[in-house]
Amino acid sequence: NQSLQELDPEIAAVLDGELARQRETLEMIASENFVPRAVLQAQGSVLTNKYAEGYPGRRYYGGCEQVDIAENLAIERAKALFGADYANVQPHSGAQANAAVLMALANPGDKILGLSLAHGGHLTHGMKINFSGKLYDVASYGVDEHSHRIEMETVRKTALEQRPKVIIAGWSAYPRQLDFAAFREIADEVGAYLWTDMAHFAGLVAAGLHPSPVPHSDVVSSTVHKTIGGPRSGFVLSRDAETFGKKINSAVFPGQQGGPLMHVVAAKAVAFKIAAGEEFKDRQRRTLEGARIIAERLSAKDVADAGISLVTGGTDVHLVLVDLRNAALDGQQAEDLLHAAGITVNRNAVPFDPRPPRVTSGLRIGTPALATRGFGAAEFTEVADIIATTLVGGAGTDVEAQRARVQALTEGFPLYPGLQQ
Ligand code: PLP
Repeated sequence: NQSLQELDPEIAAVLDGELARQRETLEMIASENFVPRAVLQAQGSVLTNKYAEGYPGRRYYGGCEQVDIAENLAIERAKALFGADYANVQPHSGAQANAAVLMALANPGDKILGLSLAHGGHLTHGMKINFSGKLYDVASYGVDEHSHRIEMETVRKTALEQRPKVIIAGWSAYPRQLDFAAFREIADEVGAYLWTDMAHFAGLVAAGLHPSPVPHSDVVSSTVHKTIGGPRSGFVLSRDAETFGKKINSAVFPGQQGGPLMHVVAAKAVAFKIAAGEEFKDRQRRTLEGARIIAERLSAKDVADAGISLVTGGTDVHLVLVDLRNAALDGQQAEDLLHAAGITVNRNAVPFDPRPPRVTSGLRIGTPALATRGFGAAEFTEVADIIATTLVGGAGTDVEAQRARVQALTEGFPLYPGLQQ
């Protein structure tokens, strides 16, 4: 019964160091968030000991009476939150949820059509060396060369040419809302299933601040840890339990996974409970407001004069995509410079990026974690100016001065006060 500190001081030091890093920097990776203490508690609980292959009431192991309650709560809360007829809360991650969706909707060799990785799609939507690219016949649509938006007429034309079995709506790096009704029409026109991967914007949907893909899609997958701000994991929804429920259940288990991570399933239930509340809505509102404030600052003259612009010229969601193709800094240099100032972002390819994926000509900057930390318009205005000043200043930036501004913000909004790991 030794503590972590006694048993393994090296790992204990990593936990301490990471808590300090999270407290002392501004986390702006669009796919990250800070889970509440209740989620940490559920995830660090004895539920991690329990095998529960199968589904509530139909397990392959004894002793599942408690975890059945947790999983049923997670399922019912997910369905209520998103107005779905069916939910599977067992996927260990977003990628595994997506593997199960494709397994349920298509056979190996079938054609799938999604947003290309280079234009903001996800690895699991058909990247060459991902399972999706290896198992399925991949076609993709891209964004328009000028507007950098997904044009539905292009999607339609591509779908008519390619005749996919599954059309994928969803993205990892795209700053605008999708037209789910138009995707539905196209899917019906070509006889395809419509799968929406709302991993990034699910929290906005839950708060009613973004159109819901659930009524339009056959199947919807998501992560829980991005805008929702729950445990690192995935889930799958459908508007039609009768047609898709059994297929998805068997694709998740035993198709893709063995025993579910019941400590994570319990933590998902907690996250869905939180997401039904008013505080959560307020957080999502601040998330959107923050992204708009950053977009506005990064559209100002000093930024434009430095050759820096925004993909699509702005944002409707929780992130902006900075286009550095005409700037002095490349994506890697910009990421490193902001890191030195205490702001964590990730470099990201922009559409039609001439640089390789390890360097890129873009940055993806997201606001969910800082909204969770409590930031509102005033703080996001300050953050936006720190980012703009740093990027415009480039190699000549007084990084220490920007670091001091970051420090004032982090100290004003203590993260996990009192927590010791
Ligand atoms: N789907 C989309 C659209 C994503 O952006 C991501 C994560 O980046 C995933 C799925 C995969 O989630 P995970 O990292 O949990 O496997």
